[in-house]
Amino acid sequence: MAEGGDFRIIAAQTTHTVETARQLLDLAPVATDALGRALTGSLLLARLLDKNVKHQYVTLRLEGDGPLGIIIAEANVAGAARGYVANPVPQDETLDVRRAIGRGLLTVVRGTPPAGKPYTSQITLEGGGVAQDLTRYLAGSEQISSAVLLGVLNRRDGVAAAGGIVIQSFPHASEESIDRVEKRIKHAPPLSTLLQKMRIEDVVATVFEGCSYKQIDSSFNVPLSYTCTCSPERALAPLALFTPDELRDMIEHGETEVVCQFCGRKYRFEKDDLLALHSKADA
Ligand SMILES: [Zn+2]
Repeated sequence: MAEGGDFRIIAAQTTHTVETARQLLDLAPVATDALGRALTGSLLLARLLDKNVKHQYVTLRLEGDGPLGIIIAEANVAGAARGYVANPVPQDETLDVRRAIGRGLLTVVRGTPPAGKPYTSQITLEGGGVAQDLTRYLAGSEQISSAVLLGVLNRRDGVAAAGGIVIQSFPHASEESIDRVEKRIKHAPPLSTLLQKMRIEDVVATVFEGCSYKQIDSSFNVPLSYTCTCSPERALAPLALFTPDELRDMIEHGETEVVCQFCGRKYRFEKDDLLALHSKADA
């Protein structure tokens, strides 16, 4: 909480989460940068938009015209995130992250499984970076005026640092405090530079130097991780959509393999598994 309750700050250190994503999905540096920002953004949004619902999740789907193709990042209030990049290794690896994502559409879905209808909204991706797009989403769809800062620092041997901060301004915020906070954000060094040198708590202290703030409740802290929720049952489920003839074809070819797009885990199904689907499909 900052400036006497005028602002709320949520910060996330996601170095380990993004590095896990890089390793599991074999991401090139620019893909790590893009997905790392999206994963961090989804984790921050899941906390920010938490309406006291235990299982709320947020999914970001970035559909830009850049070489990375579709990017999906999903996170829940408990701090678990997972993601996907359609082209994890683009041909031109020198592209900056904004051009690698490109312009297009950003879809934000939030929901509370298993019950409850997901809430979906779409805005344009304007090529100014994930943080800017999320700021526009929050202002437009959620009526929350905010600033989103995201950073990923890649090294040859992996992710050196990743994290993000979202600053929410409450409607009663005074003009002076808005002015002060805006100036601090504007003059702060890039987040990835700060994250390289210090923990996220100290990054917050550096960015908001001269502003008053305090941590209101340490029980709000949650450990963040890259966690995929796939299982053999979930991997098998899409195969039920195949027609009996197509399933028969698969059986003739022996084992069928399904690869989870979020974690790379491979599920092998034998004839009997498919026959079980087959008999259901026939019924
Ligand atoms: Zn998985």
